[in-house]
Amino acid sequence: MPSSRIPGFYNLPLSERLEKLSEASGLSLDELASLQNPQRSEINASAGLTDEQADHMVENAVGTFSLPLGIGLNFIVNGREVLVPMVIEEPSVVAGASFMAKLARAAGGFTVTTTPPEMIGQMQVLEINDLKAAWVQLLAHKDELLSEADSIDPILKKLGGGARDLEIRIIEDSPIGSFLVVHLIYDVRDAMGANAVNTACEKLAPHVEQITGGRVHLRILSNLADRRLVKASCTILLKELFFKNADGRTFTGEQVRDGIIEAWAFASADPYRAATHNKGIMNGVDAVVIATGNDWRAIEAGAHAFAARGGRYTSLSTWGKDGNGNLTGRLEMPMAVGIVGGATKVHPAAKAALKLMGVETAAELAGIIASVGLAQNLAALRALATEGIQQGHMTLHARQVAIAAGAVGDQIEEVAAQMAAEKTVRIDRAEEILNILKK
Ligand code: NAD
Repeated sequence: MPSSRIPGFYNLPLSERLEKLSEASGLSLDELASLQNPQRSEINASAGLTDEQADHMVENAVGTFSLPLGIGLNFIVNGREVLVPMVIEEPSVVAGASFMAKLARAAGGFTVTTTPPEMIGQMQVLEINDLKAAWVQLLAHKDELLSEADSIDPILKKLGGGARDLEIRIIEDSPIGSFLVVHLIYDVRDAMGANAVNTACEKLAPHVEQITGGRVHLRILSNLADRRLVKASCTILLKELFFKNADGRTFTGEQVRDGIIEAWAFASADPYRAATHNKGIMNGVDAVVIATGNDWRAIEAGAHAFAARGGRYTSLSTWGKDGNGNLTGRLEMPMAVGIVGGATKVHPAAKAALKLMGVETAAELAGIIASVGLAQNLAALRALATEGIQQGHMTLHARQVAIAAGAVGDQIEEVAAQMAAEKTVRIDRAEEILNILKK
């Protein structure tokens, strides 16, 4: 089995990392070339996304926009070693997730489960006189409606997906009064499913109008994909939590564990903290969602709506301790991602990213994404509960500030190192140091 441990990976020059990745994953350099910037790649000049491909993807295209793609290391998900491509502009995320995955692998890594890939399509039915009677009529015709919905996408049907259920809801007291909502529950297999569900709702709408006597207004997927959930969990052994900060201050495993649980309790009880806590989870989640060509706005919308499902916005994760005193973490959230459809099969880097992870189903991909989200959550909580978030961010952040101040080549590391040592990472200080260096 290929390993997700690549010691010293971060010390290699960028050009050599792809070779290491090729060795570790068993994929050829050609297969991985799409992960690299086409302007830089010496391996395959057609790597990345071409202007022509971009032009087919969106309107008014004038070019493409690059972001760094890093590899999340050390991940074991359901016993399988996984090298995780992550696309993100924020420093520290790839390093943080990789480090926490290393702590988790001492106890076997991440365990994940998923519910069936069922999405919800909504039909808003207006202009009904008797909502209860319409409800009864729809239920009486449920089998007929489901069988019609089932025949809409023969590919999905052949793959074992299709219509699963019909739910009727009455929305009271909306700004336009009461109306009926029909939920079509649709199993979309390995697709994200928005197009599939929207198509099914549009085709089913005339029949719903005929049965209810009302007018179907909206026919659209709900991004609150609360039937398509992923759960990831991990255990961090106490001995892995021992921590010594840059100033030599030490924290015992118990102190770090309890500090993490206290930090989580804050997010669990307070929406102001929960928003930032969940943002940290999404740092990891979105990075993999983007690398695989999936719709990160859909994942964001679903995550935050799910976090508020109980009427108060709260943490998506839970941290506690097991009978042996080890730290335990769990993340549960909707995960509507696909490995077919949308941009997943169009963007060459997304295709290479899926291949690198060796995923064969959307559920497997969902599990990896949730594991990265949980790892990233732990990275932030551990930093916050010990030395504070800025210390870990400092060097990488300092590099960005140095570049913004005009540093190039070796100057970047020199300016960044001095600012980090001074604990003053500001553009004016970067400019001063740069001026001295230039003299
Ligand atoms: P899609 O329609 O491109 O692909 C899905 C189709 O692929 C299925 O209907 C099926 O016919 C076929 N298919 C082949 N093999 C399959 C397999 N193994 N499993 C499942 N289906 C298979 O894409 P989609 O996933 O229906 O829609 C995703 C796109 O919709 C994304 O680009 C998203 O950005 C966009 N979108 C999102 C929203 C929203 O989130 N609210 C709304 C509209 C569109």
